[in-house]
Amino acid sequence: MLDMNWIRDNEEIVRKTAAWKQVDFPLDELLEWDDKRRKLRQETEEHRAARNGLTKEVEKCLRQGEATAGEAAKEQVREINRRLDTLEVHLAEADSRVAELLLLAPNPISPDTPIGRDDSENVELRQQGIVPEFGFVLRDHVSLGELHDIIDIPRGVKAGGPRSYVLKGAGLYLHLAVQRLALDVLAARGFSVLDVPVIVRPESLVRTGFFPGGMDQTYELNGENRWLAGTSEVSLVSLYSDEIVELEAPLRLAGMSACFRREVGSAGRDVRGLYRVHQFSKIEQVVLCRNDAGASENILQEILANAEHILQLLELPYRVVAVCSGDMSLKTHKQYDIETWMPSREAYGETHSASNLLDFQARRSNIRYRDADGRLQYCHTLNNTAVATPRILIPLLENHQLEDGSIYIPQALRKYMDGKERLELPQ
Ligand code: AMP
Repeated sequence: MLDMNWIRDNEEIVRKTAAWKQVDFPLDELLEWDDKRRKLRQETEEHRAARNGLTKEVEKCLRQGEATAGEAAKEQVREINRRLDTLEVHLAEADSRVAELLLLAPNPISPDTPIGRDDSENVELRQQGIVPEFGFVLRDHVSLGELHDIIDIPRGVKAGGPRSYVLKGAGLYLHLAVQRLALDVLAARGFSVLDVPVIVRPESLVRTGFFPGGMDQTYELNGENRWLAGTSEVSLVSLYSDEIVELEAPLRLAGMSACFRREVGSAGRDVRGLYRVHQFSKIEQVVLCRNDAGASENILQEILANAEHILQLLELPYRVVAVCSGDMSLKTHKQYDIETWMPSREAYGETHSASNLLDFQARRSNIRYRDADGRLQYCHTLNNTAVATPRILIPLLENHQLEDGSIYIPQALRKYMDGKERLELPQ
């Protein structure tokens, strides 16, 4: 959420941001309601002051036995009260319209964000690792999964419907291993590791900036007034809502959770395999830090580097892209995606998304800290994937396949895989 006074002073930036992010933001309507609200507030205050004066007048008349003048003043008080009743109704309406419209205001983008319409205009910043060349006919992760009997999509669909899957045996252990690796890397880098609720209140989704816009992408629990979160970011940030936090050092959180996505609008896209599913698991990094653009930019680089380190431990080739304005959500100020090489797609596919939100979520969630002068400030919040699986199993299985159908297990995963160096074909 943006500050209303800031919006007033920076109308042009807000207009441009909405155009760059291609969001329909009714700025003029917000400004009108805010004007109305200011006038109503002023009028209400004037009426209250007049009523106070008249009440004193009534008391004075009563003391001095001036019954007629006292009655006239009393009638004026009654008249003002009637007017105040109406004003208060209008003011409540204006307050709630301003609050509703403010939720739709897009966070401004950083000066180095590329302007563009969609992901085709994201800008590649660097590539890391070597894209493998296979001297044999490669199998995609679905075929490899069938061959090793570690992924069963038909039975997953039978039980769960489209975009479902089953991970079996070594497939499940790999899924757990990448998460355990990510948690261990983050814990060693000062993150607290947490298992957080995935069933969340609607307020948590509003206050973290996922609602009202993302309601159609989110599963609602029938009759519960609670929803299934698409990411643990919702809970991780909401743990601190309405709190004054201690930010001597940034608060580094690593959340482990299942994630649920309706994927409305993706019909027909990425239908084969594990790329786009309704339920997956993710280790997510969330950091709360001081309200300082330099400090949060450093954290953005830090959480990006953490994700890159994990990919390097998985020995996977990837690239980092600067996400353009049109591919960003309402809440994002600056974003990098990491795309990992997926041989069957002959392309890099998105596996990580790192964002700096500045104080956008903290304002909505009312998360503050005391600065060096003791003043309360909204903090900055940031997030990035550490690992999301089973999507990461696509590059892991495909890049590491060997000619005989076995799969190489990167060194860093072996301790979570009973020391195995390869997944051998079942006999
Ligand atoms: P996001 O929270 O949307 O930035 O997504 C973070 C990461 O979660 C993505 O980069 C993917 O690795 C993974 N992910 C997101 N949506 C899906 C999905 N529908 N199926 C599988 N993985 C997903």
